[in-house]
Amino acid sequence: MPDQRFDVVVIGGGIVGLATALQFGRAFPKLRLLLVEKEDGVARHQSGHNSGVIHSGIYYKPGSLKARLCVEGAAAMAEFCREHGIAVQICGKLIVATTEEEVPRLKALFERGQANGISGLKLLSKEQALEIEPHCGGKGWLHVPGTGITDYVAVCEKYAELITAQGGTVSTGTKVAGISQSNGDAVVETNRGSFATKYAINCAGLYSDRVSRMAGEKTDVTIVPFRGEYYDLTPESEHLVRGLIYPVPDLRFPFLGVHFTRRVHGGVDAGPNAVLALKREGYRRTDFSLRDVAGTLAYSGFWNMARKYWRSGAGEVYRSLHKPAMVRAMRMLLPEITGADVVADGSGVRATAVSRDGSLVDDFQFKCSQNILHVWNVVSPAATASLPIGREIVRMAREGFGL
Ligand SMILES: Cc1cc2nc3c(=O)[nH]c(=O)nc-3n(C[C@H](O)[C@H](O)[C@H](O)COP(=O)(O)OP(=O)(O)OC[C@H]3O[C@@H](n4cnc5c(N)ncnc54)[C@H](O)[C@@H]3O)c2cc1C
Repeated sequence: MPDQRFDVVVIGGGIVGLATALQFGRAFPKLRLLLVEKEDGVARHQSGHNSGVIHSGIYYKPGSLKARLCVEGAAAMAEFCREHGIAVQICGKLIVATTEEEVPRLKALFERGQANGISGLKLLSKEQALEIEPHCGGKGWLHVPGTGITDYVAVCEKYAELITAQGGTVSTGTKVAGISQSNGDAVVETNRGSFATKYAINCAGLYSDRVSRMAGEKTDVTIVPFRGEYYDLTPESEHLVRGLIYPVPDLRFPFLGVHFTRRVHGGVDAGPNAVLALKREGYRRTDFSLRDVAGTLAYSGFWNMARKYWRSGAGEVYRSLHKPAMVRAMRMLLPEITGADVVADGSGVRATAVSRDGSLVDDFQFKCSQNILHVWNVVSPAATASLPIGREIVRMAREGFGL
């Protein structure tokens, strides 16, 4: 017999699960809602190990969920932070074409940004670019004035506080170990008892595919974890970066390339790169999980991906293991930087969904089946877009479950 019964159980206390629970409470104030998180606090994984950028939405394919929800989410996130006294700065971003070949791609990005409805975008001359970032190099420059920075851990903590204030329950230290069906309810089995619920929402991030399989869902994708390693600029070299300096990304990948990010509480990050992680929630290079590695290697989609992208993957691994190579990549954006200006810092792991054919899933993915809604591939810019993602999930649940 289940220990308690709820209307909705959200699995995962990252920014997406929390935003979803918050939006459920706003839409249905009488709903009995439980959010379960296996760690002792919220935002312990992707949501607490990211760059803290409020993305503008320039990178994403026009018409995609990423584009639509990011543009909307950026405005909503800035407003949420201001309303709740969370540190936020709209410091703008400079995207830099580092070679002549990248200049047409920079222009294409400008057009994509305009198609996505982003205001204030401007292609700059070198003189104009140097007024914004006096130390940047490059051959072409695009200014995105609406990009900002914030503290996503503080955002998550505020979401959790508001969920509780709305009458929901956030239960940390509660790990989901199984999901079964009983009398039309989903029964979520955890280390703290079992909870029957009319509807469950799987927002388990790096484990979202495994939680789906626990529920008997046949997933078309598998999460392949990619670690992103950061360097810190030393205090003496922080003056080299005023706001955010990014390269022109390779749009075949969901990664933006090594960039410089000023942190909202001070300091400047360089990174992250993108290397295969040997543990889904492993933040050190030496972290290893036999189950996670075996799972990746047994997946045909991983090998198809490796065949397609081995060259860029090898480059990332080389730069990860060899600091001078990483510094060379940074110097493309900031010619003055040297190895003495950066020290290795933390890392984050991205829950990248890979299809069987080896392609990296481009957009956010949702699947509503029976009484469970699965959320996969909510990678960057999902922190920025969390409020509209949550609202979208509530809409899908309303339609899919007839709520
Ligand atoms: C290096 C890096 C940089 C990024 N930079 C940015 C950025 O600047 N701007 C931006 O908008 N986005 C950025 N992102 C993306 C953003 O951080 C993620 O898209 C977002 O945090 C995903 O949130 P989530 O809730 O889906 O996942 P998570 O934050 O990973 O949360 C999932 C939660 O589920 C829990 N869980 C898993 N399994 C179970 C279980 N069995 N039982 C109970 N709980 C479980 C986990 O403990 C975890 O807390 C970045 C991501 C990374 C990794």
